[in-house]
Amino acid sequence: MREQLLFIDGEWVTPESGRFGEKVNPSTGEVSGRFALATRKEADEAIDAAYAAQRKWEALTSVERSKYIYRLIQEIEKDRASLESLLIEEVGKPRKEAAQEVEGVIDQLQYYAEFARKITGDVVEGTKRERLILQLKVPYGVVLAITPWNFPAAMVARKVGPALVGGNTVVLKPSSDTPFTAGWLVEKARRAGFPAGVVNLATGKGSEIGDYLTSHKKVSLITLTGETGTGVQVMKSASSIMAKLILELGGKAPFIVWKDADLELAAKVLMWAKYWNAGQSCIAAERLYIHQDVYDRFLQLFLEKTRRLRLGPNGDMGPLINGQQLSKVNKFVEDTVTEGGKVLYGGRKPDSPGNGFFYMPTIISNVDQGMRIFREEVFGPVIGAMKVPDDFDQVIDLANDSDYGLASYLFTRDSALVLKAAQEIKFGELYTNMPGPEASQGYHTGFRMSGQAGENSRYGVEEYVKVKNVYLDYSKDPTSGEVIPPYS
Ligand code: NAD
Repeated sequence: MREQLLFIDGEWVTPESGRFGEKVNPSTGEVSGRFALATRKEADEAIDAAYAAQRKWEALTSVERSKYIYRLIQEIEKDRASLESLLIEEVGKPRKEAAQEVEGVIDQLQYYAEFARKITGDVVEGTKRERLILQLKVPYGVVLAITPWNFPAAMVARKVGPALVGGNTVVLKPSSDTPFTAGWLVEKARRAGFPAGVVNLATGKGSEIGDYLTSHKKVSLITLTGETGTGVQVMKSASSIMAKLILELGGKAPFIVWKDADLELAAKVLMWAKYWNAGQSCIAAERLYIHQDVYDRFLQLFLEKTRRLRLGPNGDMGPLINGQQLSKVNKFVEDTVTEGGKVLYGGRKPDSPGNGFFYMPTIISNVDQGMRIFREEVFGPVIGAMKVPDDFDQVIDLANDSDYGLASYLFTRDSALVLKAAQEIKFGELYTNMPGPEASQGYHTGFRMSGQAGENSRYGVEEYVKVKNVYLDYSKDPTSGEVIPPYS
């Protein structure tokens, strides 16, 4: 049985309350360990430690800070097989996907470490010849990083990497479904020699300590990846402290297959876009819009490929993360059938393997824009398909007609349509004739209720630093010509 403690000011700490939460292995349905439930007192201690450590951390140059990140990368690389195994155990990822996530962690950390030399401010002219304004890029201070369970290692790297390079210190609050992955990474940071207090870990339930952490006056920036509802709650709570917010929230990606598309390619990419991480991805295809001329042919192709999927960590698709998620996904299918959808494949728990939270890959046809399955995020291996007419403008309107605006997909051989979509689609990401996921050098950002600000790329790193202005005047009389009382 695994046990995850808190990490505060450079030490592993047992929760004073003695309270632990249970973690269930999603592939077996059995308890695999327990994790500390931080109290408000421990939340305070973690934030205080980060606050106290920040001044010295900021005093290092960004290149000096990046050296710690390079050491962290070395620690991860030395032991990457154990992180892969942990992701398989904790989330139920197929081995290939676990290995891909570990690679993504390293790639992102490398990107941020390399970026250290590129955090540059500006010197701009002042209001007179002998005046200059230094625009310095400075850290916010203490960053609260709240992470989800679906990519529990990559999401930590994506937040902690730029926060640290930028000179901030961190309190990490991972999902209760994936406390061990977060703990594993924090232990590697400890081994990499980060000074005490620079990285802290407060495991616990968002519903118990979330509001407390997100309204704590010593927190200056909150970066959350999670559901849109959680983002709304965090925004409300953080309004009392005016914290800067980076919110990476839910998605409802449209996947458009036009009449001239390479159908084989589109079907292959959809296998990834729908079944990667069992559909539990913010960029997962969630709305399938298929041109009327190729509707039946494309669904047939996709169905044939879907039938070949093998479930289980040694197969192609893992389980859902927990029982609640399983019920939620199944309810989507039931509601869609009630609303007139037709299940072409799946639509239930599989006969095997075992007692885990597996759900069959599921394809539903006869879906339309008004149905719940096209409005709300499913977050599972279920997709609805809608037949669309030969009117590209109308399809772009359908795609844009969503509360969410994170990822979108378009398959067509017509470059004019690709360019039209590039200009008219209102999503943070458009993948054209190719699979994702997003790259470290691309800016991951959502429109509408998918969030605000963003991560990765130059723009993403710059979210973690603020611009401070220093006014300089080297003239003999800086007051000359200024409006300064007394006037008479
Ligand atoms: P979630 O919102 O349930 O939880 C995310 C984190 O927020 C967890 O650590 C949780 O403990 C914490 N939390 C919950 N309530 C809180 C509160 N009131 N205050 C502070 N923290 C609180 O999300 P999840 O189920 O872990 O993850 C799945 C969701 O994440 C999906 O909606 C998915 O689309 C989204 N997601 C988005 C991106 C992106 O980049 N946009 C990436 C991955 C996942």
